[in-house]
Amino acid sequence: MSTKVRVRFAPSPTGPLHIGGVRTALFNYLFAKKHGGDFILRIEDTDQNRYVEGAEQYIIDSLKWLNIPFDQGPGSSNEIEEKYGPFRQSERKNLYKAYADQLIENGWAYYAFDTAEELDAHRSEHEAQGKTFIYNWHNRLKLNNSLALSSEEVEKRIAAGEDHVIRFKSPQDEKLHLQDIIRGDIEIDTNILDDKVLFKSDGMPTYHLANIVDDHLMEISHVIRGEEWLPSMALHVLLYRAFDWQAPQFAHLPLILKPTGKGKLSKRDGDKLGFPVFPMEWKDPATGDVSRGYKEDGYFNDAVINFLAFLGWNPGTEQEIFSLDELINAFELEKVHKSGARFDPDKTNWYNHQYLQQKEDKRLAEDFIEIIKSDEAISAEVEKAGTSLSLEFVEQVVASIKERANFVSDFWELSNFFFVSPSSYDEKACKKQWKENTNEYMNELAEVINGIDDFSSENIEAVVKQWITDKELGFGKIMAPLRLALVGELKGPHVFDIISLIGKQETVNRLHKAVAVLG
Ligand code: GLU
Repeated sequence: MSTKVRVRFAPSPTGPLHIGGVRTALFNYLFAKKHGGDFILRIEDTDQNRYVEGAEQYIIDSLKWLNIPFDQGPGSSNEIEEKYGPFRQSERKNLYKAYADQLIENGWAYYAFDTAEELDAHRSEHEAQGKTFIYNWHNRLKLNNSLALSSEEVEKRIAAGEDHVIRFKSPQDEKLHLQDIIRGDIEIDTNILDDKVLFKSDGMPTYHLANIVDDHLMEISHVIRGEEWLPSMALHVLLYRAFDWQAPQFAHLPLILKPTGKGKLSKRDGDKLGFPVFPMEWKDPATGDVSRGYKEDGYFNDAVINFLAFLGWNPGTEQEIFSLDELINAFELEKVHKSGARFDPDKTNWYNHQYLQQKEDKRLAEDFIEIIKSDEAISAEVEKAGTSLSLEFVEQVVASIKERANFVSDFWELSNFFFVSPSSYDEKACKKQWKENTNEYMNELAEVINGIDDFSSENIEAVVKQWITDKELGFGKIMAPLRLALVGELKGPHVFDIISLIGKQETVNRLHKAVAVLG
């Protein structure tokens, strides 16, 4: 076995990729890149009944969007395909039988002819006595298999085409010590293991056989996967022993839990609480149902990566913002937690907020313009107001409001007054702030502003404040009504930034309009 780090993400294309799966892909990617290794995508599609159209492409697109592409996988170069591929198990289906046969030959597996009805009957019988039926050492000799039947009988049945599976013969009375990088030593009593089916009657391998054979042939050095596979680890380690292959090292990642901390995070939790559990939007090909995705909901891919990295891992320092390169540097499997990671939607928004602050205003402005243009009602309003959507203008708008936003989609709500003059005024605030003399002051202020030449925010501020001081008016008396006239409410960024940006004429118009409406 090569000593090179080679890890794989091995999803079954049964639907969209849950963020738990994305986290598994990410940890594999980080580990591979940290150790100069290969990150492999293997599509585990042996179960044709559960195959979902489009799911494989969805997985590939998601990894691409998140900027964690695989080095080897479907679509790799001929050379790689020849050495390690194909990377879809459905295209490898002919190679597994020989491995199942090998286990039969060396006594680690056997043929079993029990029909589904017979097995069901055993199960119900056991249940009636309050017991659980397990197909293993304590009853396998009483069942319908090649360990109990004569070899002539077995040959005869196989030759006659009788349906049969191949089962693993789990050892009896042994205490296994499994080593998991995250969980340490795990002791398993082999007597509790059942004789899992390795090869099905339809000629296809089960997950367990295909997974081990492929990990071996693809020279996988570390298996990093979700905790739900921990119960399979004993069988997998035994399979490596049975083949006389060196087993990879294992690391089982903690579950991602609901925001309450109780139970596994599901799509339903997201639907109920209003957050996506998929990286990208997914349209179910059978029902047409659309599930929301982080991408379409306006999350940045680097923010998603950062928050996923912290689900079950942290660097042991205070630092929370990590670029992908920093994550690669800091990531260690030994620092992954054993206990479940509670999913916190507020924290994901916090991450998006942090990343939004770091983004270039130009890029944010471009995204914002896109949003404005694609919304008919909003773009009509902007057009009617005659406001230009120049990149330069929108960039400045963005710079002044982005600290209050988590998403680009929050921008309009925070900045509409830059584009259109207020259509109404906050009644309560007006009652309190618009006093007897306010009309007079605002008219005069409009004149003052009209006379300013240097229209920078700083200069406007200096001139207006000087005027307030000269008139001995007190700031509150002027600033609150001024803001109401410009914004319609007592909110928004620095008032002089607004004035500077919307321009002299618009400011004067808004002051006059407010006087007309409120006076
Ligand atoms: N196909 C399995 C899954 O869907 C892979 C488990 C593993 O990584 O071994 O998660």
